[in-house]
Amino acid sequence: MKVLVVNCGSSSVKYALFSMAQEKKIAWGLVECIGLPEAYFKRQSVGQEEEKTLCKVSNHFEAVELIINHLLDSEKGSIKNIDEIYAIGHRIVHGGDKFSDSVLVDENVKAGLKECYSIAPLHTPHHYAGIEAVEKMLPGIPSILVFDTAFHQTMPDYSYMYALPYEYYSREHIRKYGFHGTSHKYVMQKAAAMLNKPVDEVKLITCHLGNGSSVAAINNGKVIDTSMGFTPLAGLVMGTRCGDIDPAALVYIMGKESNLSADEMNNLLNKRSGLLGISGLSGDMRTIVKAIQAGNKKAKLAFDMLCYSIKKYISAYYGILNGADGIVFTAGIGENVPSVREKSCENLENLGIELDMNKNNTPSHEERFVSADNSRVKIMIIPTNEELMIAREAMKVLTNH
Ligand code: ADP
Repeated sequence: MKVLVVNCGSSSVKYALFSMAQEKKIAWGLVECIGLPEAYFKRQSVGQEEEKTLCKVSNHFEAVELIINHLLDSEKGSIKNIDEIYAIGHRIVHGGDKFSDSVLVDENVKAGLKECYSIAPLHTPHHYAGIEAVEKMLPGIPSILVFDTAFHQTMPDYSYMYALPYEYYSREHIRKYGFHGTSHKYVMQKAAAMLNKPVDEVKLITCHLGNGSSVAAINNGKVIDTSMGFTPLAGLVMGTRCGDIDPAALVYIMGKESNLSADEMNNLLNKRSGLLGISGLSGDMRTIVKAIQAGNKKAKLAFDMLCYSIKKYISAYYGILNGADGIVFTAGIGENVPSVREKSCENLENLGIELDMNKNNTPSHEERFVSADNSRVKIMIIPTNEELMIAREAMKVLTNH
């Protein structure tokens, strides 16, 4: 039984085809730079070399068409017939407060997704285009939507509300939604298994640290708080996003630089801030780490700010959870940068949080414990796998349907 996972971004379509019996990825790739002259299609499948070709792709429909035709290719494809695909799982960034779980696509669901256009205008129209393209290319095969926001829908109102005049919530739906939910859920399930606890009894602080980063507080398997907010800008210092700042600073900057439009301000906060903004070098942690080794002080400051923000969230979430069974580090930085884990957990012994430096510094691609034997809170590194989680969710929805 095979599940196709599709992730439509603003100018790209990524895909992965899983054989669900062994949960094995058998083909994957992406069409990038849709609508631009430099558009290309990169693909790979098990046992074959990666291939990359320039292609003319003017929209998401053509990108999906290219992918499906490649999957069906008699020589290099991975399936002989579209009926081999049992389901399609679509990654959807924002489900607002309409979608608290993965859902089978029907006309009602599509109408609900359209209502999310205003809340996530950069993503939702592209997701929608992808769903329609898949429907045309793979008629009769069920599509399931899997939302980045859904796992966080269990937050209580006092956690997700902003203290703005209430009508901004009731009229504009402005509240905390949280993101990376698929990743937080995946590592929660793994962590519960590693801790030998049922998911609905586990208390965790999960740290997804990638280009975008977020922390979640999970009590009895349910999110009670998370660091990202109405958009993925809030919370931790990130690659190019500022994370938490005093909103009055923006009002002040806009007052001073009266020619700065809302779009430009958005660009400043999302694309020119974070590690990049402070270091002036890059939003990529590998570059930051190298620059620190070469003695760059601003890179060191950016690194310290990131780790401090992680440590603050860990401490706050430890408090609201009244303790924790475990802390999980995942995603590019969380899995691969020992110094970030070390600095984020430094001097937290009073909370029962202690790393084993040796384990922390030993590279591995496996899930593992890196806490000291006497650490009350277990610290884990768990490689995330959002694509597999989306495929699992698609199976779950169809099985329960
Ligand atoms: P995304 O949020 O785009 O999925 P990733 O989870 O791939 O991002 O994380 C990207 C970040 O992880 C980048 O800052 C990158 O430098 C960092 N990263 C990935 N691998 C390593 C590594 N081996 N050493 C240091 N940093 C790494």
